[in-house]
Amino acid sequence: RMNEKYQREDERLKTYTNWPVPFLDCHTLAKTGMYFTNEDDKVKCYFCEVEIGRWEPGDQPVSEHLRWSPNCPLLRRRPTNNIPISAEALDAILPPISYDICGSNNSVLEVHDTA
Ligand SMILES: [Zn+2]
Repeated sequence: RMNEKYQREDERLKTYTNWPVPFLDCHTLAKTGMYFTNEDDKVKCYFCEVEIGRWEPGDQPVSEHLRWSPNCPLLRRRPTNNIPISAEALDAILPPISYDICGSNNSVLEVHDTA
């Protein structure tokens, strides 16, 4: 079971005290659900539990996160228990809602009457 306090962005940010990857902004990582595992350069998302490491220069926190976890509830703007430091700053960094082109939450199938 994951540590509940990591639903808070300020608590996630505190995990980056020994963050070894200078070219990756830990504020962006913390904002988008990631906390530092203190193992190599591995971060973990509180909301989808994806783990990402071996970062390379040019990697973008949000696009890598989406690549490995396209249905992360935080990134997909679904309701979560996230407590952001600034909701506006988070909103500005999340992919736009129109990104959800696959409609992965439409569990209702349209049934056509062919009679
Ligand atoms: Zn995630």
